[in-house]
Amino acid sequence: MCGIVGSIGKEDTVSILIKGLKRLEYRGYDSAGIAVIDQKGLILVEKRAGKVKDLENEIGEWKPDTNIGIAHTRWATHGEPNELNAHPLMDCKNRIALVHNGIIENYGSLKKILADRGHFFRTETDTEVLAHLIEEFYEGNLFEAVRQSLQEVEGTYGIAVISSLEPDKIIIARHGSPLAIGHSGGGMLVASDTAAIVDHTNKVVYLEDREIAQVSKDNYKIETIEKVIVTPKLQIIETDIKKIEKGGYSHFMLKEINEQTQIIKDSIRGRLDRESGTARLDGLDRHKKQLIETDNLIILGCGTSYYAGLIGGYVIERNAGIQVNVEYASEFRYKNPVVRKNSIAFAISQSGETADTLAAMREASRKGAVCLGICNVVGSTIARESEGGVYIHAGPEIGVASTKAFSAQVMVLNLISLLLGRMRIMSYDEGKIYVDRISEIPQKIKSVLDEADCIKEIAKLYSDRNNFLYLGRGFNFPVALEGALKLKEISYVHAEGYPAAEMKHGPIALIDKEMPVVVIAIKDSVYSKVLGNIEEVKARKGKVIAIATEKDSEIQKKADHVIYVPETIDSLYPLLTVLPMQLLAYYIAVERGCSIDQPRNLAKSVTVE
Ligand code: GLU
Repeated sequence: MCGIVGSIGKEDTVSILIKGLKRLEYRGYDSAGIAVIDQKGLILVEKRAGKVKDLENEIGEWKPDTNIGIAHTRWATHGEPNELNAHPLMDCKNRIALVHNGIIENYGSLKKILADRGHFFRTETDTEVLAHLIEEFYEGNLFEAVRQSLQEVEGTYGIAVISSLEPDKIIIARHGSPLAIGHSGGGMLVASDTAAIVDHTNKVVYLEDREIAQVSKDNYKIETIEKVIVTPKLQIIETDIKKIEKGGYSHFMLKEINEQTQIIKDSIRGRLDRESGTARLDGLDRHKKQLIETDNLIILGCGTSYYAGLIGGYVIERNAGIQVNVEYASEFRYKNPVVRKNSIAFAISQSGETADTLAAMREASRKGAVCLGICNVVGSTIARESEGGVYIHAGPEIGVASTKAFSAQVMVLNLISLLLGRMRIMSYDEGKIYVDRISEIPQKIKSVLDEADCIKEIAKLYSDRNNFLYLGRGFNFPVALEGALKLKEISYVHAEGYPAAEMKHGPIALIDKEMPVVVIAIKDSVYSKVLGNIEEVKARKGKVIAIATEKDSEIQKKADHVIYVPETIDSLYPLLTVLPMQLLAYYIAVERGCSIDQPRNLAKSVTVE
């Protein structure tokens, strides 16, 4: 959440910072700001509520004489997203400017102490206390003042600080929110996400939790908050700039939906072993013995990743016969979970930085579980802290509403179920069939995406409705949840997902002629039951949009609209049935004129608990 970028020693600081903010905007976009130090040694600040574009317009042709600056795009936690509360935030004398990602949990008590010592607060943010704390501790050494301040702080932070008293350095520090230093010819860059600096460099050093760095134009040093010197590990990042641009699509979300054919190919490449009818997942190799012995898996995730995890739960129980507990990561830590001696926990997070998932994983590890990650971002915190795992290879996901990462997570969970299944109850022949069906999925995804126009027409008919119901059973129940979530996220339409049979226990009361009900009614083992649920909706005059298996003509007679997906095996259907859900939500949001890639109140990569 939120984006931080900083630059030192380079010309054209303001445009580097603005361009960096634009690349980070998907991480928070309620306000943005920039601070630079000019040649007279003054800190100049520009802030604006709204998007980075608004800040850019405000700045116009402003070209201060500077080669050092920091910038921020905010996702407010404390204090309204207005211009005043936008970062950078400053101390009393306007000599320290600071940007922050995270939450200072003890800001209330710190604020009181500082106010009693005469500090004057201007904003409602938790962050402002940090600027004043640094001012309080400053005795001629900014690095030390920041270090001492952080020793007083509880909570999470990624920060970048500049001061007119020492205009030749940026101090950065991290605890729970990612930060990296980028080497670039003639200067240095800092950023919370390398997307902000890939235009300038591919050489980066990531900070670990509780590390602080002093960055000047041609070098840097890193220490821990406890004063231990850190030897930096330089990494070369491979980000193809094309992958973080829209490439002709009107929205990142539509681009990412359409990338799914390729993404699923990437997520299975080299991982199918037809000879042995199983999956090859190198990141799990070291844990083979535990994987054979375990009789309990715990899957941890939030939001869309949690729904992917629910599908994983169904698939693994069915194919491998292992009991699976799928848990909201945000609840797991606080319920004193039971972790068995041989439990294995999978933490699912697209960014690999999701604060709740990371905390839940740490709790599972504390209680003795082997912890494995299912992440997209290579080198992210969950990927680094877990004992092994599987990357989903979905490429950068910029649209805030996750699409391709969800599909890749579901595919990886299928691969895990194949591997575990073959270690247990699945025969060689069944394994081979599973491998074949998996290999067919990319082509089948393509054929569903080719039907986008028909989904667009349905979206037009229902875009004015204020409530939707989504129903599914078995493997497709979590898809119904995901479909409802997509609609809520990007079009602000109230939608609920339910197991189809649960409808009669309550939600059926909502059904009338105005209510669209999206029903996943594919030809799987629960098909006839779902047809019964469709009848129940029709009897109350609800409008049924059915997702059905191709060539199913019976369903035409019952549903108002039918969207077909190709046939596959039960475990793999979610990879096809989710696509109409994504497209329906997308086109309804287009019809309603919503801000699709940056929906209201949301942000990508949720690094606060
Ligand atoms: N907690 C800080 C604020 O509300 C930082 C939020 C962010 O990470 O953007 O201002």
